Amino acid sequence: MSPELQEVLFVRHGRILGRMRESGADIECGDGWFDVLDVLCARLQFHTDTDGAPQVVAVQVKEKAGALRFYAEGADEMHGGMIDVAQAMSEHFCQSCGGRLPCLACSRTLAALRTADTR
Ligand SMILES: [Zn+2]
Repeated sequence: MSPELQEVLFVRHGRILGRMRESGADIECGDGWFDVLDVLCARLQFHTDTDGAPQVVAVQVKEKAGALRFYAEGADEMHGGMIDVAQAMSEHFCQSCGGRLPCLACSRTLAALRTADTR
């Protein structure tokens, strides 16, 4: 993820992402999943703040096999359900631009880049 957008998430969701920020760990996925992560972290924190649930602390956030992977400590059953839905939703959206898959815009860009590489 671009440093600028990652910083927005780190600042907005400091209690969840603070440990990653302090350890220098990056969010290892494209900018297209910014909103999925932003909403996920907001809902995780809301459950903690309003229901007295444990504090979720993310330890690793990355893309694996085309899907978001959100590894965290302190998640209760409801937090786990939220994480599961976010990970499943990510498989429907382009991690580069956030568009619905299959993403024609990014596949055209990738094809153009590949053509440029072979020249
Ligand atoms: Zn795209």
